[in-house]
Amino acid sequence: MAEGMSTYEVTATRKRPQDFDFLVGQDFVVSTLENAIKEKRIAHAYLFSGPRGVGKTSSARLLAKALNCQEGMSAHPCGKCDSCVEIAKGKSVDVIEIDGASNTSVNDIRNIKEEIMFPPQSSRYKIYIIDEVHMLSTSAFNALLKTIEEPPEYIIFIFATTELQKVPATIRSRCQQFRFSLISQSLIMQCLKSAADDIHVKADEDALFWIAKEATGSMRDAYTLFDQVASFSGDHITLQKIREKLSIAGFSAISGIVTETLSGNPGKALESLGKLFEDGVAPEQIVKDSADFFRTILLYKEGIRRVDVLGSALSDIPESIVGTLSKEQIEAALKAFLSLYRDLRYSLSPRFEIELLYSRLSSLPLLSTPESLVRKLEDLKNGIAEGHVVVKTAVKPSVIASPAAVPAAPSETAKAAVYQEEEEEEGEDAEAEPPQEERKLTAGDIPTIAESLAKMGKSVEARYIRTVDGIREENGSYSLLIKQPLAYNSLKNAEKDIAKAIAAATGESYRIKLRLEGGTAQDDDDFSPEMRKLKAFFGGQLIHNDKIIAAKEADDDDFTIRNDEETQFS
Ligand SMILES: [Zn+2]
Repeated sequence: MAEGMSTYEVTATRKRPQDFDFLVGQDFVVSTLENAIKEKRIAHAYLFSGPRGVGKTSSARLLAKALNCQEGMSAHPCGKCDSCVEIAKGKSVDVIEIDGASNTSVNDIRNIKEEIMFPPQSSRYKIYIIDEVHMLSTSAFNALLKTIEEPPEYIIFIFATTELQKVPATIRSRCQQFRFSLISQSLIMQCLKSAADDIHVKADEDALFWIAKEATGSMRDAYTLFDQVASFSGDHITLQKIREKLSIAGFSAISGIVTETLSGNPGKALESLGKLFEDGVAPEQIVKDSADFFRTILLYKEGIRRVDVLGSALSDIPESIVGTLSKEQIEAALKAFLSLYRDLRYSLSPRFEIELLYSRLSSLPLLSTPESLVRKLEDLKNGIAEGHVVVKTAVKPSVIASPAAVPAAPSETAKAAVYQEEEEEEGEDAEAEPPQEERKLTAGDIPTIAESLAKMGKSVEARYIRTVDGIREENGSYSLLIKQPLAYNSLKNAEKDIAKAIAAATGESYRIKLRLEGGTAQDDDDFSPEMRKLKAFFGGQLIHNDKIIAAKEADDDDFTIRNDEETQFS
């Protein structure tokens, strides 16, 4: 790239289309204009509207060239005659560019009114290109209106605006209108690749992808950002360099932090967050990138696979997170980051807020939303209607302590209703005789069990089983102790496979249970069937003697079951 450096021309200028064939992403506009020129149906006022940086001004210049080419009016002007060359340089005396933003007064328009009385000096048409036309004052519009109503034959106006709704209807109705659209991410990628080739710079796909995404549909923004990135990237543009120099967090960094958080490793996650702050990434950027991340996960969960909608390469999407979190949980996380973004500027310490939010995210897999609670209530209602669930009107506190004792008669002091399923769950009592086992299952067996799982094609489970912290034997059954909610949730869904893998690894069959250790209690076995039922039903928080014995935060809805004197809902 060395030889190009001294005379480096900004990419947006260098890549400005000199022919309609090179105007990207506006096929409809281009074909309509080309046809009109071919058939010599020339309007006296055009209005180009659409987002910034998508080719409105370029199209206006192309149209001017096409109309004024000395080789004859053509959709493909020669590009060599004096008129074409002067227009390309912005020096044609007969093509007058006016910035509506800085020429808003009536006087400016009066000047135009007087000027248009003079025919073009050396061209077919005298063309006024008025950019950001919506910025003109009302009286200026009125003056303009009279001008475009009956302009001399040789006058053509081309208006451009990013805010069509601010252009008075009286002006709009007198113009031939063209709407320009945002340019797709994939098209921007192609253009960036070609821009990189032009200056002989190697550019990684994910780096260009990031630039294209940041440009949000504006080709000009994409080129500007590309130039900025190219200026510090040497002969190879990489995402790593972008991240370092532009201080962005980026999708994969956020993905890593979220995975650490959900894996029951909030300490590690906070360290990684700290690293981002040290790298100079702004708090707003971290929150924005985090919101971006959860938006992508949500869309992916909804089945969207279009990369330009997702804003991320499919290979970057962490399947483990998508699989662990429900749609409601992802929505809750996205909502939390969006609202933090709003609140950030009022915050005493944006950094603390972000750390707090990430710390709270670790319980995301346990989060019950009002929606999921409503679903559970519906299930329960149906259960009662169908007779699966029996409602008892009273319960003594002792029930909690001793699983066997279900009070036969209603007690006056009890205030709570306890729901009990008639059918005993999981048939634990039925398994009266634990199998006689010669050999004990120990933590030393984990690696072989992991290998068996891997052989069964259960690679995720194989990875997670290695996080088992210990194995505890109780009454002839073995509890696998797990600390990470993410691992626990994945393994919980694969209990049968794990049992199979254990049998394959040890040649014995064992009764196993998975237990989430530490943090929030998931030890179903410690409680009576009634309490288990309550917990399963509410997914809420269960407190016994001031000790949280089961907890699921249900957003702001307080579904806490306490047991002080009696069991009661609060
Ligand atoms: Zn020409």
